Amino acid sequence: MSESDQPNPADVFRVVADETRMTILRALAEAPYDEYEEVLTFSQLRERAGIRDSGKFNYHLDTLVGQFVERTDEGYSLTYPGELLYRTIVAGLFTRETELEPRDIDSDCLDCGTSLEMSYDEAVLRITCPECEREYMTVEFPPSAVESRDADADRLETFDQWVRHHVMLMNRDVCVWCAGRMPGELRYRSEEDRIPYVAHTCEHCGGFMWTTPGETVLNHPAVVSFFYERGVDVTSRPLWELPFVVSDDAVEVRSEDPWDLAVTVACEGDEMRVLLDGDAKVVGIEGKE
Ligand SMILES: [Zn+2]
Ligand SMILES: [Zn+2]
Repeated sequence: MSESDQPNPADVFRVVADETRMTILRALAEAPYDEYEEVLTFSQLRERAGIRDSGKFNYHLDTLVGQFVERTDEGYSLTYPGELLYRTIVAGLFTRETELEPRDIDSDCLDCGTSLEMSYDEAVLRITCPECEREYMTVEFPPSAVESRDADADRLETFDQWVRHHVMLMNRDVCVWCAGRMPGELRYRSEEDRIPYVAHTCEHCGGFMWTTPGETVLNHPAVVSFFYERGVDVTSRPLWELPFVVSDDAVEVRSEDPWDLAVTVACEGDEMRVLLDGDAKVVGIEGKE
């Protein structure tokens, strides 16, 4: 499909900017899978949507068919864009104003030992040290994920896995938004403090995200087994408690041109170093027997 054949995004959003159409999308999305297996007949859909006026129902359903709803001989189902749009709305990203005031969490600052604080505002979860003001995590997280859980411990466990899931995709150059190619490269985030980070840029949608060099090696088999052999499951310890992930001290710049970076991973008195090149790819391991 050429650029000019593609529907205009403004027209696409106009299609769903209507309460009846949203009701129809909801009726399709929330129809129990066991009962309908994602396909509803015309009358089932009309009944679940609760729209009495058949002319009105017909008209709005027709506008959705193609882009958001698929019509086959069996009936109606959501297309992938229809599903994505509906689930994004339900995640609360467009509509909710969830906030959490700063509160202590069960982890301490690696620098000063003070209990860390979490807060949530404008769909961003933050973990910071109230004493030395060090920022540990600043990551977008869906409002529904915060609202649907009562305990902070539960929210934080979910948040940790959410971040890991995104990091894992980016470590393999996959965009977290569109699955386009998203290569990483080592870069100083600011020229003043000259601390190296990994900059990930999607070649397709332009999405951008920073990760730390430690996050880049988080899923490397050598790192996972280094911890495992010492009795630690590094896949379920929170990222903000892992010094090699969040501490600048764990990162040593050996050369800038070309990049040669060493991330020190420590556990139970033992150390290993994971070496990264300029594309933030692991090129070697040192100091592990
Ligand atoms: Zn601190
Ligand atoms: Zn992308």
